[in-house]
Amino acid sequence: MKLSKKLNTKNYKLKTKNYLVVIILGPSGSGKGTQSKLLVRKFGFDYFGSGDALRKRQKIADFTGKKLIRVMNLGELVPSFVISKLWIDKLEKLKQSKGTNGFVLDGSPRKIAEAKFFDEALIWYEFQKKVKVIFINISRKESLHRLTKRRICKKCGRLIPYIGKFKSLKKCDKCGGRLIFRPDDKPRAIKKRLEEFKREVIPVINYYKKQGKLIEIDGERSIEAIFQDILKAIE
Ligand SMILES: [Zn+2]
Repeated sequence: MKLSKKLNTKNYKLKTKNYLVVIILGPSGSGKGTQSKLLVRKFGFDYFGSGDALRKRQKIADFTGKKLIRVMNLGELVPSFVISKLWIDKLEKLKQSKGTNGFVLDGSPRKIAEAKFFDEALIWYEFQKKVKVIFINISRKESLHRLTKRRICKKCGRLIPYIGKFKSLKKCDKCGGRLIFRPDDKPRAIKKRLEEFKREVIPVINYYKKQGKLIEIDGERSIEAIFQDILKAIE
């Protein structure tokens, strides 16, 4: 994706001197992964995506690694303490690296308990000074529509969202692999995920709203327009 080159953000500078933590939330299909990666590319932020981190964790062949494979294949929720442990490891590592001036958390916390726990962790690691929570909002109808149409590369596993220029891709833009529909993007599984979002993540969004950290962005627009709004929001 050469999108960031097209975006008119060349002269954009972060005004904050504090370490910036950007949490990106939104229902499945809202494009939060795409936006997270644009931010990472633009500012060199560190990145934490729970999906990526959990898939990596599966490869460690201990009890949790093996059980994660089973649980995630069934589409069941991963317990909060497992995901929290992964954050802590990441935050500890970030504390030791002096390279970056921020990090992006893609798609979590997903429960109130996790949000509270994460707040504590940010304070402990002294990252709490500048925290922005971006909520990319799309309607349930739009989410369903995008999820049933999005595809995945059979070869490298890259998820191809049903937005913008990705819609017309014939092959994977990274490796040229064949694009197929994801087995867990069946309508019933999608509806289940959206229900979970409403039940678990909406309270998290309201929690951040009360703290004055939330910026809501209309996600039913172009990738570029959404990214411009995110840039304004994190100033
Ligand atoms: Zn590929």
